[in-house]
Amino acid sequence: MGGLIVTIRLTGAKLVDPAQSREAILSDLWIDGERIVEAPADGRRADSELDLSGHLVMAGAIDIHSHVAGGKVNLGRLFSAADHREHREMAEGSLRSGSGLATPSTFTTGYRYARMGYTAAFEPAMVAANARAAHLELTDLPILDKGAYVMLGNEEFLLRRLAAGAGQREINDYVAWMVRATAAHAVKVVNAGGISAFKFNGRGLDIDEPGPYHGVTPRTIIRALARAVHEIGIPHPLHVHCNNLGIPGNVETTLATIDAAEGFPIHLTHVQFHSYGTEGKRRFSSAASRIADAVNRNRNVSVDVGQLVFGPTMTESGDTQAQFRNRRHAEPDKWISMDIECDAGCGLVPFRYREKNFVNALQWAIGLELFLLVEDPWRVFLTTDHPNGGPFASYPQLVRLLMERDFRDACLARIHPAARQLSVLDGLQREYSLPEIAIMTRAGPARILGLADRGRLSPGAMADLAVYRPQADVEAMFRAPDHVFKSGVEVVRGGKIAAELPRGTTQIVRPDYDAQIERSIRRFFDDHMTVNFQHFPLSEQEILDAGGRLATQPCRPPGAPP
Ligand SMILES: [Zn+2]
Repeated sequence: MGGLIVTIRLTGAKLVDPAQSREAILSDLWIDGERIVEAPADGRRADSELDLSGHLVMAGAIDIHSHVAGGKVNLGRLFSAADHREHREMAEGSLRSGSGLATPSTFTTGYRYARMGYTAAFEPAMVAANARAAHLELTDLPILDKGAYVMLGNEEFLLRRLAAGAGQREINDYVAWMVRATAAHAVKVVNAGGISAFKFNGRGLDIDEPGPYHGVTPRTIIRALARAVHEIGIPHPLHVHCNNLGIPGNVETTLATIDAAEGFPIHLTHVQFHSYGTEGKRRFSSAASRIADAVNRNRNVSVDVGQLVFGPTMTESGDTQAQFRNRRHAEPDKWISMDIECDAGCGLVPFRYREKNFVNALQWAIGLELFLLVEDPWRVFLTTDHPNGGPFASYPQLVRLLMERDFRDACLARIHPAARQLSVLDGLQREYSLPEIAIMTRAGPARILGLADRGRLSPGAMADLAVYRPQADVEAMFRAPDHVFKSGVEVVRGGKIAAELPRGTTQIVRPDYDAQIERSIRRFFDDHMTVNFQHFPLSEQEILDAGGRLATQPCRPPGAPP
């Protein structure tokens, strides 16, 4: 960043920093270069001062699950001309124009997140064979820190090894090799075994059902991967998109998935789509309370919600099996399904969620029930599974739904009456506090992603800050912070982009493995893949050459507690 280090003193603001304290505290904040520092003991003045009297300061927000880069995101853009026609913008102060709401272009993605006080977003479904393209695209997102979770659990190599009875050591070495070869930050499993089953005409795969070709059950895959991620010390637990997404009655599969982890840490993503029962005359009901109970009881489990937002969007998923089922609901009527190498693939289906549609209305209510029934804000995170449940631009409205019961009840009164009757939302009094919002959008994601120097406002932390002017309308407050700092640089001022640099860093982990594993992976590549083994791994230099910056988060030593 050159030799220019500027100290900045922010005075008079209230800090909402649940990593340090449950209370908002009035304190000055000192920034030296890109980090928060202690106030200098010698009484020295800062190079610049900003009076923030009456403002609230939080750490920059972190989106733990948002589809912002990679093949399916690009297909989604290609597929939604209307989204790009209707949402065109030139972010003031920035050099680049952009477009799209559900499928925004890279620059728009970075600017819009930053203008909402977000300083990091993680792409949760990187196909291994497409890692290079996904990373180059992530590098293109201005301002934000970023990282990607590599999708494992449906690829030929792993399924063959599990079918052959491979030991946990071999699985661990393979997972570690894959994470390094794809410069990933974490490991995701999507519909374990189900995407492979789809290739052999399997249209569903439940947790204890052997896959049609390899004969491996989803339970075996989930257990092996959850244990591998833990044993090789990756900070973020296995990120699980459960089997049977969207199917009434899938609550049983989701509860069985928690069981399959056998106590190893797991993160269940967009759990709203996996919390469905079969009660009532329409055979579709909320099972949010059963899922919330299980999360409350099992401290190894965290979730993000994947809240549904009414309106048009694009669904983009690695779950080709679920997307094949969803094609019937496409609006407009078009869809894409594809497979890449022997890895997995993706499915794209445009959607419109309606408050007067019974199923959509109940899905909306189920998401909010989950937010309100999971007791520990450190283990439930604010997501819409952008753009699958709705665009990330709707987060400020979601915050209001969680913080204001009156607003929530007014929205509830508008939805399909049968859905309203089946939901317990009406009786839920809970209103999130500001510190709880700060936990679920900052401190919590930083902790569960292993980002020790993010999500907090104490000395040593990266100076990623959002400065809000308190308003009666919390949606307006969270939509447009007055100032946003990224790595000590004021990137947003008065709701406008003030600087496009710094670019943010790509977060990766580098777990160790026994190099013996490369022999069997190489043999598999020689026999089956179109890419040469030597060309497959992404070198970190490629990210740097594209103008990116890298930060490696440490892995836990073997045997250390999670
Ligand atoms: Zn997702």
